[in-house]
Amino acid sequence: MLSYQHDYHAGNHADVLKHSVLALLIRALQRKPTPLRIIDSHAGSGIYDLGSQMAQHGREFETGAALVMRARRAPESVRPYLDVLKELNPDGTLRHYPGSPELAARLLREQDQLELFELHPQAAAALRARYARNAQVHVHRRDGFEGLAAAVPPQERRGIALIDPAFEQKDDFGRVAELVAACRKRWANGVYMIWYPLIRHAGPDRLIEALRKMTIPRTLRVEVEVAPHSDGLRGSGLVIANIPFQVDKEIRELVPWLSQELAQSADGTHGLHWL
Ligand code: SAM
Repeated sequence: MLSYQHDYHAGNHADVLKHSVLALLIRALQRKPTPLRIIDSHAGSGIYDLGSQMAQHGREFETGAALVMRARRAPESVRPYLDVLKELNPDGTLRHYPGSPELAARLLREQDQLELFELHPQAAAALRARYARNAQVHVHRRDGFEGLAAAVPPQERRGIALIDPAFEQKDDFGRVAELVAACRKRWANGVYMIWYPLIRHAGPDRLIEALRKMTIPRTLRVEVEVAPHSDGLRGSGLVIANIPFQVDKEIRELVPWLSQELAQSADGTHGLHWL
């Protein structure tokens, strides 16, 4: 059953963390001219109209992307993300939000490719429509766990796998760990970015422990907790495996700043650790 729709959450604090780091990873891999492939296992709809009924329901973007867009002193490390936000909203008012497909599509060079997996019929149709004329973007209405496993290693041998399920099914935590283990057997030097929610559930800790046991080189764990006392989504985290050199330094600048901008109470906090 697919009931999750990202339209309700587009541009929230979790999207800001995930997408600002994704933009840094893409830009880092693009320092070399060789082609790369970005594979998004759970792609969503690509771009979100923040005036839609769904986005207006909780107006989650107001405590996420809108804060970052209005911020006075943004560090250099948030630029690649912020530039895309501003490109999409040229008059400075946040009306459209780029999901991971749109962000990646806008950052592609002509030699790069983007592979999108999405199972929800409406979201997959939206992706198909948006990227129909873009030969660098490949849309599959297919299970992302199977799809990513089948897509690695990409022919370019360089790239990023973004694993960003909705975690509606609690066994998704276990499935993500199994997926990373399976993919790494065939694509050991891929960059893997896994998003997880900070919620009162054992799933995230189990996932992180399973990833830690894989002893993947250069694996960074990043968390931004915007509402430590919330019983819902307190914040979110990323595990980035095989992180390119220098990006860890950029993330060390980015994350404290994001944490400060996105905190919903005085005790908002963040963490950054090698796994
Ligand atoms: N990655 C997107 C972004 O950053 O803009 C957001 C993705 S959203 C958190 C999760 C998406 O996964 C939803 O659009 C949902 O329809 C989709 N989904 C759920 N189960 C799936 C599956 N087994 N395979 C592929 N997509 C799935």
